[in-house]
Amino acid sequence: MNAVTPAATGAHEAAVVRDGMHRLVIIGSGPAGLTAAIYAARANLEPVVFAGYQYGGQLMLTTDVENYPGFPNGITGPELMEAFREQAERFGAVIHNIDVTAVDFRARPFVIRTDEGEYTAQSVIVATGAAARWLEIPGEERLRGHGISTCATCDGAFFKDKEIVVVGGGDSAMEEAIFLTRFGRHVTVVHRRETLRASKIMAERALSHPKISFRWNAVVDAAHGEDRLERLTLRDVDTGATSDFPADALFIAIGHDPNTSVFAGQLELDAQGYIVSPDGVHTGVEGIFVAGDVYDIRYKQAVTAAGMGCKAALEAEKFLEHRAVHAAPPLVAKP
Ligand code: NAP
Repeated sequence: MNAVTPAATGAHEAAVVRDGMHRLVIIGSGPAGLTAAIYAARANLEPVVFAGYQYGGQLMLTTDVENYPGFPNGITGPELMEAFREQAERFGAVIHNIDVTAVDFRARPFVIRTDEGEYTAQSVIVATGAAARWLEIPGEERLRGHGISTCATCDGAFFKDKEIVVVGGGDSAMEEAIFLTRFGRHVTVVHRRETLRASKIMAERALSHPKISFRWNAVVDAAHGEDRLERLTLRDVDTGATSDFPADALFIAIGHDPNTSVFAGQLELDAQGYIVSPDGVHTGVEGIFVAGDVYDIRYKQAVTAAGMGCKAALEAEKFLEHRAVHAAPPLVAKP
């Protein structure tokens, strides 16, 4: 038997799985998680992806995606995510459609618990995304992708010269309303109070825009339409009076919730629950990386999430190589 040092085997080989431990676990299967899986698999890190029972992330709820580069005629969200997945699996990523129920990042190896067992890993990429908040009103679920959306950047261009409603009073709502004036005939912002939460500059821009008007102290109670959104029921929160409001599009901009409940107490989270990172890749725990909307409160795009997934995988690879060379015990060659 010969003792083989990591230097003799090469860093990749030295970082080989020991005792069933994985080199890299990726949690999440949107554009960030699956791009990380493609890069990590091609670097022979044999990544294991916990995709979640509802795999594929927010794009699985989208119809046409027209702004993902490489698809000049557009592609549906689910088709795009299937393609990401197929590409990751082609290079050997192992993808489990199960949720992670708990993690222990306090000691190495890191522990990842699921309904189907416990896994250990030398490094982890957290790419669990964020979920847009919905209004939970009648008609909303049925008309998602048929006039109702939570992403103006993604879907605004489908509503050229149409009547558009935006719900919310924060920066996102103002940004979306201003952006949507490029397409819509008119944009009405429906806000449940008479004061905007948005920053002064964003509020002023929206308030002074000739194509934007406001319905104060109002909420959307229901969405109606056969195959597409046709009208909304608005309710005045002071008087309780309801009214019909014809609309071709409803953009809901009432915030997002990052999917971080299993990381509470394990990773630093900000006041809104997003993972804190100094550079959008590393976290406060060495060997744990972050990618996509679970960190990114600003851009929230499939292509930016994919870019972050790539960065996280490259950093994980560097981390594992460094560990293999400097920290891991020498491998023992088989006789
Ligand atoms: P937000 O600041 O939390 O605002 C959410 C808005 O939606 C609030 O006006 C809230 O009303 C309303 N709302 C919440 N639940 C609702 C419901 N069920 N029905 C009706 N209305 C509801 O969220 P955000 O606008 O997504 O912004 C999140 C963060 O990102 C903020 O820190 C923001 O400054 C930042 N951001 C910055 C920019 C920028 O600088 N360009 C752009 C986008 C976002 P109330 O006001 O009554 O609570």
